[in-house]
Amino acid sequence: MRRKIVAGNWKMNKNVIDAQKLMTELRDYKNNNTTNCEVWIAPPAMYLMMAKDIFEKDEIGVFSQDMSEFESGAYTGELSADMLESIDATGSLIGHSERRQYHGENDESCNKKVKLALDKGLIPVYCNGETLEQRKAGQHLDVVKTQTETALFTLSAEEIKKVVIAYEPVWAIGTGETASPEQAQEIHAHIRGIIAQKYGQEVADEVSILYGGSVKPDNAKEIFSQPDIDGGLIGGAALKIEDFSKIIEGFN
Ligand code: PEP
Repeated sequence: MRRKIVAGNWKMNKNVIDAQKLMTELRDYKNNNTTNCEVWIAPPAMYLMMAKDIFEKDEIGVFSQDMSEFESGAYTGELSADMLESIDATGSLIGHSERRQYHGENDESCNKKVKLALDKGLIPVYCNGETLEQRKAGQHLDVVKTQTETALFTLSAEEIKKVVIAYEPVWAIGTGETASPEQAQEIHAHIRGIIAQKYGQEVADEVSILYGGSVKPDNAKEIFSQPDIDGGLIGGAALKIEDFSKIIEGFN
């Protein structure tokens, strides 16, 4: 059975007091409610250790928003897979579109990061998705295919099963515009099909593929009910317990 996941990407939001408050609310919510999915968060890097302290029973997965493609050394400002492993983090987001847009991330560097994360026992959440121009030009299926192949297809079958993919159309991130459940399902099935062609259906059926892009309490249930959608990567709506918990309940 594929894992079902709701993951919150906090991006560059919240000071330490507000971060501690939301983590505590989340922990209490998780401990007092039955959830039908795993709950993960990716807070800013400086709050990762605080998250590990607050979620002391590992009831919520703790992810960084990015990690370096290098093992260690003179890379100012970077965070290594080794550091994440040493605090017992769950994994890292890799290739988020904002990292691609503002920090020159590409699928070649994602490939290195995914491999490094796996080598350290971390779960890579590999993000991909087309821009609005690419969708308008009818290139979305090809774009996502190339991204997936470049970033992931050097992995073994055992390795790719451990990767979580987040399909996030760039035009739907933080814009309030959401892919329709049918549009998202089409791409998710397409990604699973590409993986099946290379690794076989059994392997492809084990890879969790999340949808990201303006998921909100009122559209989560319908999106998550699609056969190839295994949960969501949530930005803005992960910043308030009321919204995030309702999205988690999209699996109830
Ligand atoms: C994201 O940042 O991954 C995201 C999906 O953001 P939002 O939910 O705000 O569109």
